[in-house]
Amino acid sequence: MTSMTAIELREVREALRSRLRELDAIRATCEHCEHFAHPPVCAKFNAAPPDEFRSQDGACEHWRFDGVPF
Ligand code: SF4
Repeated sequence: MTSMTAIELREVREALRSRLRELDAIRATCEHCEHFAHPPVCAKFNAAPPDEFRSQDGACEHWRFDGVPF
């Protein structure tokens, strides 16, 4: 690890906190999946997932996030 100043330490901490807040706001559900651009149909399976499945965090191993938070 390279050395850093106190100011750099504070900046890196704040950048990581900011990034963590962004990631914490994402849920691994259909609503945040890149395959769900045209609800209620999942493009991966060309079918509408059941409501309970859609809202279950981490239920689908094919979930992918494209970085767009809506
Ligand atoms: S791939 Fe999985 S998580 Fe994504 S929309 Fe389809 S069923 Fe939902």
